[in-house]
Amino acid sequence: MTIFYEFGGALYANITNKCPCACTFCIRKNSDSVGTNDSLWLEHEPDLNEITGAFDSFDKSGLKELVFCGYGEPMERADILLETARYVKEHTDMKIRINTNGLVGLINPRFDISGLKGLIDSISISLNAPDAESYNRVTRPKFGEEAFGAMLSFAKAAKGIVGEVKFTVVDVISAEEIRRCKAVAAELGIPLRIRHYITDNVKYE
Ligand code: SF4
Repeated sequence: MTIFYEFGGALYANITNKCPCACTFCIRKNSDSVGTNDSLWLEHEPDLNEITGAFDSFDKSGLKELVFCGYGEPMERADILLETARYVKEHTDMKIRINTNGLVGLINPRFDISGLKGLIDSISISLNAPDAESYNRVTRPKFGEEAFGAMLSFAKAAKGIVGEVKFTVVDVISAEEIRRCKAVAAELGIPLRIRHYITDNVKYE
């Protein structure tokens, strides 16, 4: 079972396959993995011991960043994620990033975002669309209309806690929607990165 894998010069952590969304561009629909790595579908959700054991045994030579990412939404297991991050910070000098849909406030309303402080160096949040209606069309969250606002609230809160916060959008939406996404991001003072949709999973970050 693949909990850690290397991709694009970083170490990626795959701690859950759960996700409350069904994005139209999700690579999980097209592939079981990224790059040349083994399947990222987990046999079971690994506990902290399994995660730290897999981390210790992974050859991390030359890898300076750990990214909590898919196959799933890593903040589905926010508590385990932070315990893992604490372990990594205690044992290495790796930078830590989370790639998230920003919906932890709906996934787990009890989660205290201040727990990210000092453990997470950067967060990349999927903006995906410029308004709630188009967001739901692209992201298809199980939470319905609430999701877009919750994601923006998370981004605003994270900005005061984590050193680097970025939005991303995948170019499956129109140029006009991307222009409006830029305006949303600018209004919040958060940089926006536009990702290209590549079906053969060459790019997954
Ligand atoms: S949030 Fe991420 S893992 Fe979940 S469906 Fe969207 S792209 Fe896939």
